[in-house]
Amino acid sequence: MDDSKILMLKLITRLVILLAYYIMGAYATTDILRLLKGSTLSVNAPDCYCPICGHKIALIHQVPIVAYFFNKKACPYCKSYIPVSEIFLESFLFGGSTVICLLFQFGWLAYLINLLLYEGTKITLLLKKGCREEDFRRNLFRSVGNNVVLFGMIAFLFLLRMIVDMYKG
Ligand SMILES: [Zn+2]
Repeated sequence: MDDSKILMLKLITRLVILLAYYIMGAYATTDILRLLKGSTLSVNAPDCYCPICGHKIALIHQVPIVAYFFNKKACPYCKSYIPVSEIFLESFLFGGSTVICLLFQFGWLAYLINLLLYEGTKITLLLKKGCREEDFRRNLFRSVGNNVVLFGMIAFLFLLRMIVDMYKG
C-alpha cells in the first residue's frame, strides 16, 4: 500500500471511533436517563418516546444533537420543548470523548478515560437525581450488560486503529 492509502485508512479508523462515541452519547439518553428517578421505561426498550406527550419518536428524529436543533428544540409531534438535560448529556459525552481521543491520540488511555467518563457520569447523575423507583436493580443489570457489549465493540475499533497504525508504508 502507498502512503496516501495508509493515511486514508488511519483517518477512517479514527472517524469510525468518533462515530461510535457519537452513537454512544445518544445511547446515554436511553441508558442513563432511564435509570433515574421518575423513569418507567425499560433500559432495553428500543423505542424512544417524547418525555412530555409520550409519542413514539421516529428514527429520523432521533439523530443525536442534529435532530434536536432541526426540530427547533421541540418534540416534532406535540411541539413541547425537550428538556435541555437530554441534549446536554449527549453533547457532553460526545464532546468530552472527542476531546480526550484527540488529546491522547486515540490510544488506550483515551479509551480508558472515556469509559470512566461514561460510567462516572452515570454514577454522578444517579447520586444527584436518585434511582428510579420501579425495577431499578433489573434495569441497572441490563445497563451494565449493554455497556460491556458496547464498550467491547469500541475496544475492537481501538484495536483496529492500533493495527492500521503499525503499517509504515
Ligand atoms: Zn411530544
